[in-house]
Amino acid sequence: MSLPHEPYHYKMLIDGRWVEARGAERFARESPAHGVAVGDYPLAGEADVDAAVAAARRAFDEGPWPRMRGAERARLLQHVAEAIRAAAEDLATIEALESGKPIAQARGEMESTADLWSYAAALARTIHGDSYTTLGDDMLGLMVREPIGVVAMITPWNFPLLIVSQKLPFALAAGCTAVVKPSELTPGTTLRLGQILQEAELPDGVVNIVSGYGNPAGARLAAHPDVDMISFTGSTGVGRSVVAASAGNLKKVALELGGKNPQIVFADADLEAALDAAVFGVLFNMGECCNSGSRLLVQRSIANAFSAAVVERARTVLVGDPLDERTKVGAIVNDQQLGKILSYVESGQREGAALQTGGARLATERGRFMQPTVFTGVAPTMQIARDEIFGPVLSVLTFETAAEAVQIANSTLYGLSAGVWTRDIDTAFQVGRGVRAGTIWINSFMDGYPELSFGGYRESGLGRELGRFAIEEFTELKTLQVHLGPRTNWWHRAAVRG
Ligand code: NDP
Repeated sequence: MSLPHEPYHYKMLIDGRWVEARGAERFARESPAHGVAVGDYPLAGEADVDAAVAAARRAFDEGPWPRMRGAERARLLQHVAEAIRAAAEDLATIEALESGKPIAQARGEMESTADLWSYAAALARTIHGDSYTTLGDDMLGLMVREPIGVVAMITPWNFPLLIVSQKLPFALAAGCTAVVKPSELTPGTTLRLGQILQEAELPDGVVNIVSGYGNPAGARLAAHPDVDMISFTGSTGVGRSVVAASAGNLKKVALELGGKNPQIVFADADLEAALDAAVFGVLFNMGECCNSGSRLLVQRSIANAFSAAVVERARTVLVGDPLDERTKVGAIVNDQQLGKILSYVESGQREGAALQTGGARLATERGRFMQPTVFTGVAPTMQIARDEIFGPVLSVLTFETAAEAVQIANSTLYGLSAGVWTRDIDTAFQVGRGVRAGTIWINSFMDGYPELSFGGYRESGLGRELGRFAIEEFTELKTLQVHLGPRTNWWHRAAVRG
């Protein structure tokens, strides 16, 4: 594969039109692996965000989308799924160029993305409420689900199209309208999705996409009085500021945040499978992944041999050009992220963990790559065992008993996901139930299905995406009470009693 001759030139989608920012400013993105310009985009300011929200508001309050039959919405969403499959190669290339992820992985993500749209299409026909005939002959109770309204979506740079597709098709299936702000580092595929939505003849204003910085564009969306819900995926720190900004109009907030996810390996496990998952778990997407298995908890009796095998694979894995189909670990997204990873390596050394491999930037002619890094002898109190590093850095800890493993697993502020490796069914379920995290993989790691909900405990988030519950997150529940037959009369009754 070769680099593009010139950067892709994008516009933003507001109210069905492709527009420049009102301030006419633009910003650019260089491929983190090659250092060449790969995209340039309008730089949205507050006025652009306001125009996008106004369009979404009109489309919700007056437009056809929320009033359409579920079957019609389903047809359009399914059409989008097929269009994503048809454009997968282009989309995967943009993703690899902007984020630095390996092209083979990006292709897989496009298939998963299309599947999310197909699944949401199926759900669009299933939204329903509840009814009560137990309230007496003269009362019928109906609980109806209505779309929540205008949803603002703010997404991160690590899985741009996949993450917006964990939100947008579900919100659309429910009948909502949306304003999306992708990360400034990787806006390309989200803007391309706008084209696909237009080609599918989504009514104007139903989806608006603004490219710009977290501040002011993201912050304005989070605070906007005409937004009914904000669905945010990103870091726990920014998630906190989104919650604070949302307080002005008390909009509903859904958060998918960081993680410090443990993989727990017992001595009786299929160790070859666990080894593969341990290495994949921390190196997938260069470790820039909310689900990264960045803590490896190994039972003491096998810890030395198992850690040595992990180190050997980390040393020999293919790191390099994301456009090379053989590459397993690509480039780090930007200098700031690389600097953060390196500072955690220093902190691990300072606190006394043993650096077994890696720990430095790879010497390359261009781009920024990080050596896969493994620390052993890590204590649960060390910073590298507690903080989300968001890079290819594994912290290996040891445990003796299942109870100890659960206690270490629960010793961070996060609670996104965990893996448990054992052949013992009691251990698997006891640990699976004991770990406080939104997803527990037993003898697997990081598999995902649109059918299964995803989200975090504690500081990993609020609410759930995916699965049939996801669509309910984008609805309000209304109670309709219907009186049947002769009316009760308070005035008359009060008079008699008096
Ligand atoms: P950030 O929190 O830095 O940014 C996420 C998004 O928020 C970006 O679009 C960013 O814009 C925007 N933003 C920044 N500041 C503000 C603000 N004040 N108000 C509103 N929006 C703002 O996260 P990253 O992009 O660095 O992504 C990495 C993080 O995302 C990790 O912590 C990771 O764990 C988490 N994540 C969680 C997932 C989950 O499902 N739980 C999945 C994937 C990632 P800009 O790009 O301009 O800064």
